[in-house]
Formats: sequence, C-alpha cells, structure tokens
Amino acid sequence: MQLTNRSKVVVNKQMTFKERIYLPAIFSGMMITLSHLFKKKVTIQYPEQTRPVSKIYRGQHVLKRDDAGAERCTACGLCAVACPAEAITMVAAERKKGEEHLYREEKYAATYEINMLRCIFCGDCEEACPKEAIFLTDRKVDSEYQRKSFIYGKDILVEGIDLAKRVDVSHRETAEVAAFKTHKEYAHNKVYQKK
Ligand code: SF4
Ligand code: SF4
Repeated sequence: MQLTNRSKVVVNKQMTFKERIYLPAIFSGMMITLSHLFKKKVTIQYPEQTRPVSKIYRGQHVLKRDDAGAERCTACGLCAVACPAEAITMVAAERKKGEEHLYREEKYAATYEINMLRCIFCGDCEEACPKEAIFLTDRKVDSEYQRKSFIYGKDILVEGIDLAKRVDVSHRETAEVAAFKTHKEYAHNKVYQKK
C-alpha cells in the first residue's frame, strides 16, 4: 500500500565503462581545482593580512577607566547576568580608604574574567552595563595554543591608565552618554585630584 506519493523506485543501474575507470571524474575534479588558481582568492593570509572591519565591530572587550584613571566597573554583576554564554565571572571587593583614585565606586571588581572561548561577541554585556564600564572594541582576540590562555583577566581587559594607552570607544557611546559626560558637575565625570 502506498501511503504517500514521495516513494522512489530504486534502480540497480550498472556503472558504465567510463564510470568504472574513474579517470574522467578525477580529471573533471582536477579541472575545477585548476580553474580556482586563476580566480580571485576569497581567503587572506591572517594574521599577516587582516580585513577591514566596521568601527562598531564587536571584538575584544575593554574595561574602561574614567577621565581620572579610576576603574569604572562596580562589580554589580549585570553583565554576567546578561551574558547568554555565561562567559563572565567576577569577585567583588570593597574599596578601601585611599583607593579612590583606583576605583570610582565603593565596590569594585577584584577579579573580572571573560572566557573568550565561550563569548559569542553579542554585546549584551555592553548593553547591560549601567556604568559605561565595559565595551567591545574592533580589536581581535589573538589565537592561542592553550585553552586557559583564553580566560582574559583584568590584566588584559582593563585599559592602561596613561591617556596614550586608553582604548577609544567614542564611536560606540550614544549621543546621550556623550552629552552626559560633558557635565562636569556629575560626580562620575569629576577628575580625581590627589590630595
Ligand atoms: S559579548 Fe555577549 S557572550 Fe561575550 S561576554 Fe559579552 S554578553 Fe557574554
Ligand atoms: S562591567 Fe558594568 S555591568 Fe559588569 S559588573 Fe562592571 S559595572 Fe556591572
């Protein structure tokens, strides 16, 4: 009994002499390979060569400092909660007296790690951060030989304190945030003055 009309009749067709010697099929395959030698290459020699990427390309993260050089992250954990890949872990600590120039908030991330093998570079952590502390950048995550090398800690993620070592994320910040930062009366924008 035929239940559907999708059945196919299987034929035990004998191979022809041409099919049995395989040489025409091999020659045909070689011709396809040879034809690619003269076509424009679609691959590049990475890492010596790189492709141009958009300014808002979502690559390696940066943990930002404020204008005075203090770390903006307050270890609230919102980025970790928002992360669909569960790639972010952190340990919070309380800022001590005299550390105001290092950490902007009373609570800061003593440990902050992103597992770059789990990260899917979705940008949700950046969206979730209420402190403008974490941004994705147009930098690429380097290839490594060891899996543990892909656990990026604060030594890699936090930008340098020198102005020359800061990572420019101005093209990722919204116009509203940029306007907010022009108001020096807000505590977050004040430049730390050493007493
Ligand atoms: S970019 Fe996405 S996957 Fe990667 S750490 Fe941020 S939230 Fe997680
Ligand atoms: S990076 Fe932002 S969201 Fe994540 S813990 Fe720090 S302040 Fe919170």
